[in-house]
Amino acid sequence: MYFINNPIDRLLVHADIVTVARHLGIELRQVGNKKKRGYVGLCPFHRGKHPSFKVFGNRQMYYCFGCGASGNAITLVREKEFLNFADAVVRLTEITDFRIPSGKTKVTKARRRVRRPSTKNVKPIIRKVEVEAQHVREHDDDIPF
Ligand SMILES: [Zn+2]
Repeated sequence: MYFINNPIDRLLVHADIVTVARHLGIELRQVGNKKKRGYVGLCPFHRGKHPSFKVFGNRQMYYCFGCGASGNAITLVREKEFLNFADAVVRLTEITDFRIPSGKTKVTKARRRVRRPSTKNVKPIIRKVEVEAQHVREHDDDIPF
């Protein structure tokens, strides 16, 4: 299968969207069946008094019933922090302590202490990832949502 060795997929498997959302300051409370890991909170993307923002922990996705915002952990980081795709990937690796599996680049705890770590070393990997993401986007029509 195409996605097996995709570093983005590995990052998404590692980055739990509930943890990421909370890290970004979104307050969530668990609802419904615990196994489904459903959470609701106020939407960070539109003004509203009702908790219309739902995070599906089991599917690693979010959806807002108020404004229709939706996506995965990377989309959430992008939209919430106004980052481009590459920066969002780097930010996500920082949030989750994920090491991009290149053998050369390690996003370690030590580097996380630096407020804005250099992205120099991860850039070649991100470029590769962007190409793969582009591929995914081009084939998005095949996915029924
Ligand atoms: Zn919303």
